[in-house]
Amino acid sequence: MKPAKYNGGYMGRWLHVDLSTGTLREIPLDPEMAYQFVGGSGLGARLLGEFLTPPPDPYAPEAPLIFMTGPFVGTPIPAAGRYSVVARSPLTGLVGEANSGGFWGPELRFAGYDGIFITGQADPWVVLVIDNGHARLVEMPHIGGMDTYRVQAYLREKLGLPKARIATIGPAGERRVRYAAIMNDHGRAAARTGLGAVMGSKGLKAIVVHGNAKVPIAHPESFRDILRRTMRFVIDDLYTQMLRLGGTILYTEVGAMYGDVPGRYYTEGDVEPWVQNVSAPALTDLYLLKHVPCYRCPIACGREIRLPEYDEPHVDGPEYETAVGFSFMIGADNLADAAYAGHLCNRYGLDTISTSAVVAFAFYLYNEGILKPNDVDGLDLSWGNSRAAIQLVEKIARREGIGDVLAEGVKRAAETLGVPELAVHVKGLEVPYHDPRAFSGMALVYATAPRGADHMSGDMYHVDTGREVPELGITAGDRWEISEEKARVTARVMDYRAFTNSVILCHFEDVTAQGLVALLNAVTGWDWTVEDVAQAGERIYTLKRLLNYRLGMTREDDQLPKMLQRPLTRGHSAGYVPDIDTLLTLYYRVRGWDENTGFPLPETLKRLGLEAWAPNQEQRRTST
Ligand code: SF4
Repeated sequence: MKPAKYNGGYMGRWLHVDLSTGTLREIPLDPEMAYQFVGGSGLGARLLGEFLTPPPDPYAPEAPLIFMTGPFVGTPIPAAGRYSVVARSPLTGLVGEANSGGFWGPELRFAGYDGIFITGQADPWVVLVIDNGHARLVEMPHIGGMDTYRVQAYLREKLGLPKARIATIGPAGERRVRYAAIMNDHGRAAARTGLGAVMGSKGLKAIVVHGNAKVPIAHPESFRDILRRTMRFVIDDLYTQMLRLGGTILYTEVGAMYGDVPGRYYTEGDVEPWVQNVSAPALTDLYLLKHVPCYRCPIACGREIRLPEYDEPHVDGPEYETAVGFSFMIGADNLADAAYAGHLCNRYGLDTISTSAVVAFAFYLYNEGILKPNDVDGLDLSWGNSRAAIQLVEKIARREGIGDVLAEGVKRAAETLGVPELAVHVKGLEVPYHDPRAFSGMALVYATAPRGADHMSGDMYHVDTGREVPELGITAGDRWEISEEKARVTARVMDYRAFTNSVILCHFEDVTAQGLVALLNAVTGWDWTVEDVAQAGERIYTLKRLLNYRLGMTREDDQLPKMLQRPLTRGHSAGYVPDIDTLLTLYYRVRGWDENTGFPLPETLKRLGLEAWAPNQEQRRTST
């Protein structure tokens, strides 16, 4: 690799906001840091690590909340209009991260900054406004309680910035629901790990960004040429065409063929009898108004729909996870109710995966006779009662009755209810709707991803159904295989995703690895190879693991929940349970980690330049 200097791809500065003192300060971006950790969740984790001081209470005023873009964001590269949020998660206690599409990330760069680093605590509520390089804090005590849609419309008008983009929390973040989201561009969400609650704890209701700056490109001529080829690739790609036509909900029918779509709180493996009712054709035929793109994305997988059943003329259509979580997971197949539940989550600022998972957990306990009607405020949580699920979403957002218990997340709720063994989570994060009994690689991803059960850390369900990146050694295999090769491919996918989550590129656009490197070099002026991309991904992924050890993680936290180690009796994954212990041993070996502790070996840390980040025994002991 050449020296760290960059000639493009960065605005070159980030903003430090101390909400306690009201001070705002520009910090130059360190080129070496950008070169090592790229941007997005990688650079965010690197900054978090620098300021991570025990005891790191996620809600402590000094705990940082970081918004970060990457070198692709705001350029014309398709599907690169994203931003990451990084902080210590109130749900997992570990490194939390979330990323969101839409237009907010590019607009932050047009406003002049690569990222924002927030510490302190305001007396609620304040709004951070960044307009063409000028940042200010505006006190708005009356804005508390507003839902996320209203905040966005209100602030544009109140501030006289009709084209501004706004990232905001809703009532759920204000009440510190542990899986509260940060919402932007109507219904786009930085959803996972509860970072909306961290924003709420800081008394920061919203961040408004607006600007006209351009992201510098190091080699504009070669960039134009590579961009043209990339655009052609994205438009011609069969997978992205399907995604454009159907939206992410198209996966309900595909996943059902693999037994990858869980039902009835992960106990039902066969949703095929109902899948047509919660599918892309159903959404298109009954409710679709239009396709909704993120910034410069020709795929436009988002959906705007109407919901006449709820007298709602314009609603953000449900993504795959939302649709499954509020239908099959509660034993229902009512698409309108699922879409409305997702709409409420967006309005209140809730992660739809975690919310639907805790709702389905309550349904499961009720149907097993563990919870009685009196325990759930008199609701009838019989399988299939999707109207009751909607009532639970309201209760969670308000922390009312049983909603207050469920607002703590499934791990804590299960402990409160005396059934910890029935909670489906990894490291405290609720499990998304790709069943690890359908793909052994997903079992490894869930068990080892830094933020807990996380399908965005490695999409092995994509790889083993044919989405390969051969130049990076990411090739499809037998979906149930337990082998060193499966562990190796899973590690490579996770490194690749650590990189794409940093640069930042949407998972749904898989350019070739050569194309990715060519874009990176043209934007930044670097001279990277495909191998450099793989190593940067590994460095980022490993750094997050080291930070997690500092925050109290142990080898025992790499696990699969007991419920997911029971075989399904029906569907296309019936009878299979991944041997997670063997998989983990193989994975640690190919990673260069100690097979007993899961801690990266000294030679691995040296190869990645991370020796200084290894917590010593004292740090690891005092953090627990
Ligand atoms: S594929 Fe979908 S989520 Fe990804 S950038 Fe495009 S519109 Fe956004």
